[in-house]
Amino acid sequence: GHSDIGLIGLGTMGAMLALNIAEKGFAISVYNRTASVTDEFVTQAGDLAARITPTKEFAALVGSIARPRKIILMVPAGPVVDQQIAELTPFLEDGDIIIDAGNANFHDTERRAAEVPGFIGIGVSGGAEGARHGPSIMGGGSLKAWSLVAPVLEAIAARYDGQPCASWMGPGGAGHFVKTVHNGIEYADMQLIAEAYGVMRDGMGMTSAGIAPVFEGWNAGRLRSYLIEISAQIAAAQDAESGASMLDVILDRAGQKGTGRWTAIEAQHLGAPIPVIEAAVAARNISAKLEERHAGQARFGASPKALPEGALTLEDLESALIAGKIICYAQGFDLLNAASGAFDWGLTMPAIAEVWRAGCIIRSAMLDDMAAALREAPARNLMQAPVFAGLLRTHEAGLRKTASVAMTHGLPVPALTAALAYFDMMRTARGTANMIQAQRDFFGEHGFERLDRAGSGFHGDWG
Ligand code: NDP
Repeated sequence: GHSDIGLIGLGTMGAMLALNIAEKGFAISVYNRTASVTDEFVTQAGDLAARITPTKEFAALVGSIARPRKIILMVPAGPVVDQQIAELTPFLEDGDIIIDAGNANFHDTERRAAEVPGFIGIGVSGGAEGARHGPSIMGGGSLKAWSLVAPVLEAIAARYDGQPCASWMGPGGAGHFVKTVHNGIEYADMQLIAEAYGVMRDGMGMTSAGIAPVFEGWNAGRLRSYLIEISAQIAAAQDAESGASMLDVILDRAGQKGTGRWTAIEAQHLGAPIPVIEAAVAARNISAKLEERHAGQARFGASPKALPEGALTLEDLESALIAGKIICYAQGFDLLNAASGAFDWGLTMPAIAEVWRAGCIIRSAMLDDMAAALREAPARNLMQAPVFAGLLRTHEAGLRKTASVAMTHGLPVPALTAALAYFDMMRTARGTANMIQAQRDFFGEHGFERLDRAGSGFHGDWG
């Protein structure tokens, strides 16, 4: 018989997705550029090999799949995807579906969805482990094409309360956009945790072994999440070679593949303020300036960093993370709202929070509360939802204390301070942009609005 679905690209993610699909009872045909990888994959598939059809040519791949064919691409994002589509298309018929499951830039997905009939772009999160046992899937493109592949994608996805974390987000590049913002938030969550780690290590003089149980404790509370959970495990881990703490032997230079940067770039295009995510992207960029950081320390000396006894408690730090996280997600959903309007996607905010509740890297207990808050009022800033407003009232003091104490002692906490500045600006009815407007009018006659009169285009008498 014919396979239910096909998959091209048996790399880290593709291999795991294919096994997951086979395990859920679907027959799958697979293809890999390097044919030996295909053979090896089938050899190592064990009992699941019975549902896997290895193929060595696109003709054979396409011929082995039931109509309308559904073929997943799991290859590096960018030109490789276009090249695979171009090579595959001659073998396909009307109604066949190509699913790009890589981390595409959503602009590429928009273009491909417009050019290639039956093309859909889906964001897949959860790393290799998620791909194997249940990722979070953010679908985009033609709803009709999505509904034809949804049974497979829903079967392999993670579940939250029995509900699959696989949903259609919107047309065109909507799925890949939501995945991009997911990754931007992931950068911010990771940076917030790294800042808390820095305060404990450099400010409080704690060892990795001492930090691990703190993360563990936080994981039992409001901050319960995959990233806090693995941070506890990371802090507890030892290097097999040296016996030292794993964290203490890892170079402090962060890699990135671009999705955080894309989030910041798109936010700038849309005029959506996401300073916490931007701070996280900048922090990775600064981490890459290793030589300059060494030169900086040689010239200026390291900042003192050590905190006086009792200056800050672990409870303050936990509060800072809770408040920072809420503020960061408020910004992320604000960006999603702005994109939905600008691109006419009709994104459903609660559905996004729901699809992130399990399987993906940013999964957390808080996302369920966010889904509930967004069901009540999808366009409302999350900080205004009663449950989060309450949490912010409770934890604002800890955020303020952490940020100010850290800054006083030269501990860099750029994401936490960005969160605090946003919070303070967003609760300020009378800000300082009147000065900006005055300057713009002074040097460029741009005009301003007045507090005491309706209308616009007023000018100052600047002499
Ligand atoms: P890998 O590098 O592990 O695998 C890449 C696959 O693409 C291999 O099968 C490779 O075949 C194939 N390939 C590479 N170049 C070409 C080419 N020029 N022509 C045809 N086939 C090619 O990548 P991943 O599985 O990690 O990533 C795949 C996609 O998934 C990326 O878009 C990535 O961003 C995304 N992603 C990755 C996650 C992760 O945690 N790794 C998480 C979520 C998304 P060959 O064996 O011949 O080299």
